[in-house]
Amino acid sequence: MGKRAAVSEGPSDEAILLAQAQATPSVVTKDNLEGEEVTDGDSGTVTHTKPGKVRVYKPTQFGYKAREIPATNVTAALKNGFLLNCPDCGGKCGDGPNDCPERPKRMYRQCPVPQCGKKIFDYEQKDIDAAETDAADPMAIRDDSYMQSTPELRTKAVLDKHMLLIHPNEASAAGILAPAQREVQRV
Ligand SMILES: [Zn+2]
Ligand SMILES: [Zn+2]
Repeated sequence: MGKRAAVSEGPSDEAILLAQAQATPSVVTKDNLEGEEVTDGDSGTVTHTKPGKVRVYKPTQFGYKAREIPATNVTAALKNGFLLNCPDCGGKCGDGPNDCPERPKRMYRQCPVPQCGKKIFDYEQKDIDAAETDAADPMAIRDDSYMQSTPELRTKAVLDKHMLLIHPNEASAAGILAPAQREVQRV
């Protein structure tokens, strides 16, 4: 373990990531047709060396999200505001909404179709609050009925739409009814 230097003294994020990238072994794959290709004799297989991947944190409108990127893209990523570590926990947490130990956990429903199993996370309360600030405009209609929705209701609404769009047969078997056409078009 290296010394924990004072904040201003440590190596730059870029230097740390590049060092990590160099320590990450390159992944050699066969039969991968992207990137540099070397035809392997008369067998016709293609050998391709991919750069190792490093985990960085990409800024999004919903906070920073974990991403695995090729080590060769590290410099460009940092210039674009990506971070070396998660700004919430300071570590290398995972990319699921509930994977960061410091972030508030979000409730979710899981799609019941076995081949799918998509997790539908409730959106965070602050997303609703952010939308509400627009209501400072006196011409904006305030509708508190949306503020009173619950995680259960919100995720049910999203999962019903997911079922109708992605698994129409299972949806009708489960008795999920299509909402008014107008609502479907807004998805
Ligand atoms: Zn985190
Ligand atoms: Zn599904």
